This record gives sequence, C-alpha cells and structure tokens, in this order.
Amino acid sequence: MKKENSDRHFEEAKRCIPGGVNSPVRAFLSVHDRPFYVKRAKGSYLYDADGNTFLDYVASWGAIILGHADEGLIAAVTGALHEGTSYGACHPYEIELARLIVGTFPSMESMRLTTSGTEAAMSALRLARGCTGKNGVIKFRGCYHGHADSLLVKAGSGLATFGIPDSAGVPADLAKHTRVAEFNNLDSVAGIMDESDDIACVIIEPVMGNMGVILPEEGFLKGLESMCRQRGILLIFDEVITGFRVAFGGAQHIYGIDPDLTCLGKIIGGGFPIGAFGGKKKFMDRLAPIGDVYQAGTLSGNPVAVRAGLYVLSFLKENGHVYDRMRETAGRLADQVTRIAARYGVAYHINSMTGMFTGFFSDRDVTGYEAAAASDRGLYERFFKGMLEEGIFFAPSQFEASFITLTSGDAEIQKTINACEKVFRDLGTAQ
Ligand SMILES: *Cc1c(COP(=O)(O)O)cnc(C)c1O
Repeated sequence: MKKENSDRHFEEAKRCIPGGVNSPVRAFLSVHDRPFYVKRAKGSYLYDADGNTFLDYVASWGAIILGHADEGLIAAVTGALHEGTSYGACHPYEIELARLIVGTFPSMESMRLTTSGTEAAMSALRLARGCTGKNGVIKFRGCYHGHADSLLVKAGSGLATFGIPDSAGVPADLAKHTRVAEFNNLDSVAGIMDESDDIACVIIEPVMGNMGVILPEEGFLKGLESMCRQRGILLIFDEVITGFRVAFGGAQHIYGIDPDLTCLGKIIGGGFPIGAFGGKKKFMDRLAPIGDVYQAGTLSGNPVAVRAGLYVLSFLKENGHVYDRMRETAGRLADQVTRIAARYGVAYHINSMTGMFTGFFSDRDVTGYEAAAASDRGLYERFFKGMLEEGIFFAPSQFEASFITLTSGDAEIQKTINACEKVFRDLGTAQ
C-alpha cells in the first residue's frame, strides 16, 4: 500500500496541529500506525491521498448512516447553503427537526440543539444538577459522554470508587462529584446510591459503544430506571451513537425505557456538527431564557446542519425497513467472521446490534468493562493492519464500534469476508 502522500501530510500536520490530529483517535497510535489522509468519500468507500480505496466501517464514528456523499443529502444541503450558512436568529427548519425528534422519542417532550454531543451531555448534566440541587453524577466505567470536565472521569481500582480525572486539567474538586459504576451491574449502582444522598443523575450509553459494543443484560436498564425513580435521581440516556442507529427510536424504544433526559448527536446532523438534548418539559423549562439553568450556542441549530439532519431523519422515517436490512447485514457479517475465526483457532467474539458491532479478540463473552479490557490488543493491531492492507478500514482501536451504512451491500460484505479469510488465516498460524 502506497503511503508517501499521507506520510508527508502527517509530517506537515504535526508541525502545526498537536499530534497532527484534531481528535486523538485519528492518529492511529493505539495500533502503532500512521493515519491515511482522505481526499474524498462516496457510499461505503474512502479514497486517500495516495490513490488507495478503503471500505469504511468507521463511518465518521457512526455519524454517517446513508453512506458518504449521498445525492439527496447533497441536494438538501446545497439548497440550504444558498439561503445562508448561519443566522444567529430563529428559523422554521429548527422547529421541523425538533418536531421530528420529539415525535420519535416519547421521553423527549422538549429539546434543544447544540453543536456537538459533548455539549449535549455537558448541558444535560448541568440541567440535572440545576433541577435536583445536587452535585453527584453516576457514570459507568468505559462509557464516553464527550470531553466535558465532569464526564472525563474513570474509576480507580475496585467498584464505586470516587472518580479520578481521566485527563490533566480536570480539577480533582470537580471529578470527586463523579462516581463510577460498572455496566451490567446494578449492585455497583445501588452501592453508590446508598452511600450518597447528593446524586443528581445517572448518565449511561444504554448500548455501550465507546468500549466497543456491549449490550445491556436482561433487566439492567429497567432496574436502573426504577432505582432512579425511587430516589428522585434523573436518568440520562446518552444516545449520541444509538439514537436513530439501533432503531429509529433509539435504544430506549427497544428496551422500553422512559429516561428523564436524552442526548443525541452524530446521525442527527448527517455529518455536520450537531448535538441535541431533551426530555421532560418540567426539566427542560428550567433552561434559560425561561429558567435559571444557563445554556447557549452561537451555532446551535445551524441552518445547514439542521437541513442535513432533517433530510437524513426524514429519509430514515420514510424507509423504516432499512433497519431490518442493516440488522440482517451485520448479522450475516458477524456469523461468517465468527466462523472464519473459529476455523483458524482465533478467540473472537462479536457483539452487534443493528447498525453497530465490535469483534473482540477474546475467549469469552464480553458483557462489561473488565471482559472488554482483557481482549488481546496485539491481535487487534494485526487484524487492523491486515484489513487495511486489504482495503478495509476498521476503527484504529479494539475499543470502538464499527458501523454499517445503508450503502453496505452484498459486494461489501463479500469483500470483508474474503479479507477476513486471509487475515485470520495469518493470525491463526502465527499464534
Ligand atoms: C461521540 C459521542 C459523544 C460526543 O460527541 P461529540 O460530537 O464528539 O462531542 C458523546 N456521547 C457518546 C455516546 C458518543 O459516542
């Protein structure tokens, strides 16, 4: 694979951008590799600066669902561009998008747009604290909710420890209000709730995507919901990945949960910067200008992002069958790859839900943080590099989700399976 142009870009980038990248995972450090530079994207494919073509399972970390450079989306956005790129004033399309989302998520009676998922989660957290008058937050180890201070916290060793910052620059005084529980473990949540009467909210990815895909076990989310209700603690579903991806109505539709607040992002902007948070009106009405919780944004409800989002969500609404197709495609891929891995004696487990999946190099089912973290990263690195060499781009880390788009068809599945056949054969014999 030729890399001269990408390598040259990367060297130039490192001189003026920290680490050469605008978001850390793009540097490919965890697979000890160097990034390729994208020139353009179409359908399921990325085309790089050296003339390489990659079948893309990253799909802008799940933000792309129709496939890259969808013609309908281009037309919608082009129309919007001619009408101006930002107003800093109200426009009718933001109501249309809000109505579509609120009509899809019954738990969201009212919602507000932001410019990123980070802002959505940060704002939902402030609102929960403002509404309850409490400071504490319970999050789950391995769940990611963007990079706001309070949420950039992981557990120390042991369950239910006080949060320690995951990053320099996060004040310990703030991180101490974030308590970390274990996914799929209600006892770890109850332990924290019993110990503290200062908990404002629980925030969770209902289907984990940011430790790789991990599914909630039977009864886990329901249990969480009733524990929160009993104690007047707000339940926040971070559906920035899962919203409009695992089902049109997100994970809360699948599991029948009624969270107090929900965060959205990624898909709802059709590849443009966006986020949203919403929930019960009695909470949302606490936001400025009518309430006492401040939240704002120059580019919030940006007319171009909103028109892109409206196009994507309207398309998905009118074509509900695409979810069955994505589920079928991901299921077929998972079955075949699992069979190939078994044939070559490579320990491998795939977790998948509709349009998202992760293959863990693990000899056991992955149902929580510990099991995911125990996966063989060395094998993943060789899988990643082998697949890239075959023209297939999976996430440059074991602990990320892969995404199906509506342009992933039979040809793409077959190409992936053929490549897996080769790569797993190499992994198997080298063990
Ligand atoms: C991506 C992501 C975010 C952050 O969204 P940004 O737009 O990157 O700020 C928050 N929560 C979850 C679950 C995410 O996957």
